[in-house]
Amino acid sequence: MNVYEKIGLPKVINCSGKMTKLGVSTLSESVKEAISNAGSHYVVIDDLLDTVGNEIAKIIHCEDICVTASASSGIVIAVAATITGDHLSLIESMPNHNQKKKEVILQKGHAVNYGAPMETMINIGGGTPVLVGQSNKVEREHIEQAITEDTCALLYVKSHHAVQKGMQSIETMIDIARNHKIPLIVDAAAEEDLEKYYNMGADLVIYSGAKALAGPASGFIAGRQSLIKSCKKQYKGIGRAMKVGKENMMGLYQAILDYQEKNSTKDHQMYCVETMMKELNDIEGINIKLVQDEAGREIFRAQLKIDEKIFNKNAYDLGDYLKQGNPSIYTREHYINLGILNFDFRSVTTNELQQVIMKIKDF
Ligand SMILES: *Cc1c(COP(=O)(O)O)cnc(C)c1O
Repeated sequence: MNVYEKIGLPKVINCSGKMTKLGVSTLSESVKEAISNAGSHYVVIDDLLDTVGNEIAKIIHCEDICVTASASSGIVIAVAATITGDHLSLIESMPNHNQKKKEVILQKGHAVNYGAPMETMINIGGGTPVLVGQSNKVEREHIEQAITEDTCALLYVKSHHAVQKGMQSIETMIDIARNHKIPLIVDAAAEEDLEKYYNMGADLVIYSGAKALAGPASGFIAGRQSLIKSCKKQYKGIGRAMKVGKENMMGLYQAILDYQEKNSTKDHQMYCVETMMKELNDIEGINIKLVQDEAGREIFRAQLKIDEKIFNKNAYDLGDYLKQGNPSIYTREHYINLGILNFDFRSVTTNELQQVIMKIKDF
């Protein structure tokens, strides 16, 4: 019995992916060990912040790193840093500063809600979001014409949450940022490549520590030294409300070390999808096929389509049925209105896979 069951909550089988609403990830033995050890000792926190930042920067080949409590706080801190620089009094006045240079330009299709609104994070960081273009169409001109002397940053969101068509590419954003000498912030919270966007020329790139990396609740900003210095200095102001504990700093560092060594879990994912196809595709009215992640990441999922005419029940019924009882099974319901449930196996053991298959057979 796990600690959640002890207080009366059902066991959860997570077929939905790295979801905040289900606790994002579970921790490996080595990450748990790092967290436990870190929690058993004292350390000079400012030195830890610098040293862990340097070590992670060496691994992912960027100039410097600011560790954060989450990717959301990474966005807040990055925006604040582009407004304040390393000016202490200004940092202490945040978020109610009197700077005019506080506009953050982003494409309308990037003003997403990933569980909370992107615009909220910009506001907490003392910025003002400036949305350009339309939600399905943005031209280069829209972005360039919005740039004024009050612009502090451009923001690009690399995510399946963002509109994928009709937006300007990250290459174009980098080009515009370079031409106008404005920093480009990239939100790459759930991305798996920790070097790509920095190497392409982004100034600050934000990752979540708990999603692809399967670390504890944490995040980090990768970027150029002077801007990262200003990011870290936010811990003397608004950053204090987003404090990262020593345990999570070391847990994140260990998760990144492990991530460098770990082979892709592609084999496990493919095994699960193929098993599900073999076991369930005989059922009339249910069709399962292999699909790759919409945003092109190395994630392979089973897409289950249910034919309401044959089955007399639809995907909403199946989704609700799977969540009921113990274990409670959560899937990806983004396309549920089309009769589709997607199963993500990155957090599912082979034993849990069998339980999922049995439960669907009993539907
Ligand atoms: C998950 C996510 C975030 C927030 O990450 P947290 O670490 O949960 O704060 C921000 N942006 C995008 C695109 C995300 O997918």
